[in-house]
Amino acid sequence: MTPPRVVLHWLRVGRCRHPEWVTLCGGRWGAVDFPAHCALIVHPTFGPILYDTGYADRFETETHAFPARLHRWVTPVRLPANERLGVQLARIGVHLEDVGRVVISHLHADHVAGLRDLPRARFMALRDDVAGSLGHSGWGALRRGYLPGLLPADFSARLDFADDRAAADLGPRWAPFERGLDLLGDGSMIGVPLSGHSPAQLGLVLPNADGRPVMLVADACWSTRAWRENRLPSALVRPIVHDWGRYRRTLAGIHRLGSNRPDLRILPSHCREAWAAVQVPLHDPHHA
Ligand SMILES: [Zn+2]
Repeated sequence: MTPPRVVLHWLRVGRCRHPEWVTLCGGRWGAVDFPAHCALIVHPTFGPILYDTGYADRFETETHAFPARLHRWVTPVRLPANERLGVQLARIGVHLEDVGRVVISHLHADHVAGLRDLPRARFMALRDDVAGSLGHSGWGALRRGYLPGLLPADFSARLDFADDRAAADLGPRWAPFERGLDLLGDGSMIGVPLSGHSPAQLGLVLPNADGRPVMLVADACWSTRAWRENRLPSALVRPIVHDWGRYRRTLAGIHRLGSNRPDLRILPSHCREAWAAVQVPLHDPHHA
């Protein structure tokens, strides 16, 4: 049975700058823009759902004091007014109060900075990922890319664990990610664990997004080129990668899946090329 069709909007909510070679072995020395993307998924029954939030002005205030200020120094952030989440949602006809759910890939600041702007949303993440960040502060939080002040005070009360959802079998065409979690119970949004970058990063498979399959892979790789060429980031980022071995295995898995599925659109959260590709309309025969 075909899962319900959802509408996908791939939004760029701010960007930071750092040298390309950090995220791609052999990349350029100069600083380049790394967009922070998130997705608005409009479901025919459940309404507007977000996958991550990108940046928010709150990032600035939460990185004012040490040691969090180092976060801002390492990755200077720009968030033009027209890229703010609320502004972009309004353009699509969605208010921040309309968002009923947010699927959180992981708790790094550039993925959750907008949570406090969503007063009615319930959150969903993998248990081990939340456990790996919550409760840490100061240097411990900084090392984990986590800014506690970005989360609403009632975060835990509004949190559901993706782990508790029914298992979903995507089938052999999705190897090695055949096993996922049916987040809404209707097959339209399948959570797929992509660990390594963080303790339990949650990727998202949309089997029928505007009529085609899409996989949102968050920070399992930094660019389309990285998964296409199965190319790791610089070893210098190892200290900020939770588990290097698992990161490598997850990246190799996406490489394998993407190589076998030319019909599948894979969207890493910080990839400029993927942003350009997603703007291509469906009827373009070169991208069918
Ligand atoms: Zn991250």
